[in-house]
Amino acid sequence: MKKKAANTRVLVKGGTIVSMNARREVAQGDVLIEGDRIALIGDVPRRKVDETIDATGRLVIPGLIQPHIHLCQTLFRSRADDLELLEWLRQRIWPFEASHTHDSLYVSALLGGAELLRSGTTSILDMGTVHHTDAVFEAAKKLGLRATIGKAMMDAGQGVPAGLRETTDRSLEESLALIERWHGAENGRLRYAFAPRFVLSCTEELMVRVVKEARARGIGMHTHASENSDEVIAVREKCGKDNVAYLHSLGMSGVDTVLAHCVWLTSEEQRILADTGTHVAHCPSSNLKLASGFAKVPDLLAMGVNVCLASDGAPCNNTLDAFGEMRLAALMHKPRFGPTAMPAQTVFEMATLRGARALGLESEIGSLEEGKKADIAIVGTERLHAAPLGDPYSMLVYALSGADVEHVLVDGIVRVRKGRVLGVDAKKLIVQSTQLANQLAEKALR
Ligand SMILES: [Zn+2]
Repeated sequence: MKKKAANTRVLVKGGTIVSMNARREVAQGDVLIEGDRIALIGDVPRRKVDETIDATGRLVIPGLIQPHIHLCQTLFRSRADDLELLEWLRQRIWPFEASHTHDSLYVSALLGGAELLRSGTTSILDMGTVHHTDAVFEAAKKLGLRATIGKAMMDAGQGVPAGLRETTDRSLEESLALIERWHGAENGRLRYAFAPRFVLSCTEELMVRVVKEARARGIGMHTHASENSDEVIAVREKCGKDNVAYLHSLGMSGVDTVLAHCVWLTSEEQRILADTGTHVAHCPSSNLKLASGFAKVPDLLAMGVNVCLASDGAPCNNTLDAFGEMRLAALMHKPRFGPTAMPAQTVFEMATLRGARALGLESEIGSLEEGKKADIAIVGTERLHAAPLGDPYSMLVYALSGADVEHVLVDGIVRVRKGRVLGVDAKKLIVQSTQLANQLAEKALR
């Protein structure tokens, strides 16, 4: 089986390679892919290949990595604006999620996944919804996305609709069954992560059992923490501790744990994140749109916390374009921390290498190096809005967007060619998703 994969050769020819290797080399050259891995970078001697992609005048970058996504929410785009987190969840998102069927969830994940690939994201960490999580895996499989997915766990909480409530036992049983079915599938592209939604929707028993089951299996954990100030107050009332301090006291911290947001942290909690190697997924658009606040990202980075970047979900953004997150992450902290905070190269690291580290995949993805997985995006630069050509990091972070991505490979397989997501009828998907979104809205909001 391995031999067959090794036979497929793709040559990405003549681009500017933004390698993100240890020396951060940027150079003109070719990338030869054999099977699912990068075989050679530089001047590739003439040889027979199955496909040549012309990258002249383009940037060749590592596929972007977003370790906090909700594919289940793509169908709620443009239907949940101008609300703060807890109202947004209780009035819109939870009723919407509760109305999902397996089929509507599949279309939601297919739409979101196609958008991600089209705009250069090759890897995600997804917090599915409570039920039908197989549909999210099925969509990621169909698209060829590299995805670590968990079903959202919710065995408690105020304002949670019946359709999302579950018992502690059932929540764990369903998670373990999903691990059996999907963890390591599709050449390792699909993996599982436990996803207790957040402290306010989970019993302490659930959290403690998740830590135990995850550690016993070497499987990651993913939750939201300290996103909104009202949430932080409610957590303190419920648990008698600050949010991250509470998670840490239960064992939900460390290099196998990704916490989304971390906007409202005490200095003690910042220290916990740094000391334990817990990863933070910074979601700039979401934090602005839900009026959550400004995470102290430059401080966290200075303390050695691994901060990565993600677009969260379609209804709090409203796109899944990682370029938009890079631009905002670079801009939004400067008024507070000064113009040298968040240089473009650092921000690009957050969208690549640091995301890989958060997923525990830093030896496989996040940079273009011989022997690593061939997860690659090729970005057009000959655009009025990006000219004249200059520092590639500056172009990528400030001027280019996901719409400028032309070709994308995951695991050495071309998944986007000339701006088209392969295997997906985009027009049909748009029509179908609009119909389904209207149906769900009627069901959820009546
Ligand atoms: Zn989220």
